[in-house]
Amino acid sequence: MWIVSWRDALPKTQPSCPAVTCKGKDPEQDPIAATVLENAGATGGWIANARRCSHCGCVYAVHGRERTIKGYFDNPVMPPGWRPIFG
Ligand SMILES: [Zn+2]
Repeated sequence: MWIVSWRDALPKTQPSCPAVTCKGKDPEQDPIAATVLENAGATGGWIANARRCSHCGCVYAVHGRERTIKGYFDNPVMPPGWRPIFG
C-alpha cells in the first residue's frame, strides 16, 4: 500500500498556502467543515472539500492538485466570519 499525503504530493517549491499574499511560514492547512461554511453563508458543491489556512484564513476548494481560493474565513485583517471572493 502506497500512501502519500496531499501535502507530500505537492511540489516542494509550492508554499503550503495557495494565497500569494500569505506571509505564513508553512502554516497549517486544516480542513474546514462544510457545515461551518454553510452556516456562515457559503454556498456551492466545493464546500464539501475545503481547507483553510491557519495563518491568513483563506478558504479554498481542493480538486486533486488544483486549489481555488473561494474566500476568507476569520482573516486577521478583515471583519470576522466568511468573506467570499467574487470573480
Ligand atoms: Zn495562508
